[in-house]
Amino acid sequence: MSETHIEIENVNAYYNGNHALKNISVKIPKKQITAIIGPSGCGKSTLLKCMNRLIDLTDGVTYSGKILIDNEDIFDRKTDIVDVRKKMGLLAQKPIPLPMSIYENIAFGPKIHGLKKKPGLDAIVEKYLKLVGLWEEVKDRLNSPASQLSLGQQQRLCLARGLAVEPEIILCDEPTSALDPVSSQHIEQQLLKLKNDYTIVIVTHNIHQAMRLADYVIHLYLGELVEHGDAKEVFENPKEERTRAYINGTFQTEPKIDKELNLKGNVCPYNFVLAKQALHEIGAGKILKLIVDDPLAVIEVPRGIEADGHDIISVKQLNKKDWEILIRKKE
Ligand code: ADP
Repeated sequence: MSETHIEIENVNAYYNGNHALKNISVKIPKKQITAIIGPSGCGKSTLLKCMNRLIDLTDGVTYSGKILIDNEDIFDRKTDIVDVRKKMGLLAQKPIPLPMSIYENIAFGPKIHGLKKKPGLDAIVEKYLKLVGLWEEVKDRLNSPASQLSLGQQQRLCLARGLAVEPEIILCDEPTSALDPVSSQHIEQQLLKLKNDYTIVIVTHNIHQAMRLADYVIHLYLGELVEHGDAKEVFENPKEERTRAYINGTFQTEPKIDKELNLKGNVCPYNFVLAKQALHEIGAGKILKLIVDDPLAVIEVPRGIEADGHDIISVKQLNKKDWEILIRKKE
């Protein structure tokens, strides 16, 4: 592995007692793309928010452990959080351009950091718009409102705005989930170029995107670090059954289902009790498929089932409300 940029040591996070990150320790390499993968609710965004301490803005949260960036512990009370955040650009799910012109969106950060002269600002605006592949599309209308750009263009503008304050690290939280395929491809292409100069961490539940982009992979499941390592190795030859199941469950053939149980309309903990009953009725090693629509069940049912010693093969969102949970009964 190349040089470490971000070192995460024994990080735990709780939301009002809900243990969202469980003793996570992992090293994130410099100037590479690290993808954090795992099903919804497994702690990906929480881990990302720990890295820039945006987690501090959430009510009821507590966290512990260490995150070393350039050997400085960003959880240490003595650390200046403004300095830490200056090192990081954040690309969110949805682009939120500032309510000003395209030019001013890019010039805003450098101006705050003391750069006032127009020739210098002009050069910066051009440099970063070129870097994200937006310059040719907007060079003749730099003074139009950023809100007039398409969603995909706005996301590239937000990337450029983040880069204009010269961060070392780019944190991306599902950066293409709101975009059409062509705009997503644009963002992916920019990230692949940018990794020559920046350390990039991307949260994604899109396994194909992780395969296209990642040099390094971190697989989380129910707040635990299941597996991490070189992306090629993890994707081609995962060490952990849960990683294999997550990868397979998303894009390969499904395992044979022995029993199916529709638990829609049942809330926790009744759906859990019914799931346990169904498991009782099938043989060891057989597969039970559950469909649930209670958001709490997506977390709590797999947690309880695993505590009983069975294997969770996959947890998949089927549509806006419904989730599928595949369980292999213990041998
Ligand atoms: P992911 O990004 O993988 O979807 P999150 O990090 O958002 O997962 O969430 C991890 C767990 O923490 C989930 O159980 C989620 O419900 C819970 N959680 C996330 N944000 C909050 C919050 N602001 N308040 C309470 N619980 C939260």
